[in-house]
Amino acid sequence: MQKDPSEITHLKQAYSPEVRDSEFGGYDYMEEDEIAYFLADSCPHCLHAHELIQLRKKARRRLGNAKAAISRRAKELLDKHNTAADKAA
Ligand SMILES: [Zn+2]
Repeated sequence: MQKDPSEITHLKQAYSPEVRDSEFGGYDYMEEDEIAYFLADSCPHCLHAHELIQLRKKARRRLGNAKAAISRRAKELLDKHNTAADKAA
């Protein structure tokens, strides 16, 4: 089914794989800096959306790292507790 052209944003265009014109063919995605360059040339709104998506990615990564650090620390404390409880027994 053909897509309504008005639904295809610059952002969608930038994130969609394109068939590369090489001897191997196949799909290829733009690199992050290629996307920013393409959007800077095409549309300030989609560029802003792209920048916000990148910020969200970084924030999610930091949140994941913080959660993992808390879990590691909790496990360390639990191990210490168990070791101390074993000695007391
Ligand atoms: Zn746009």
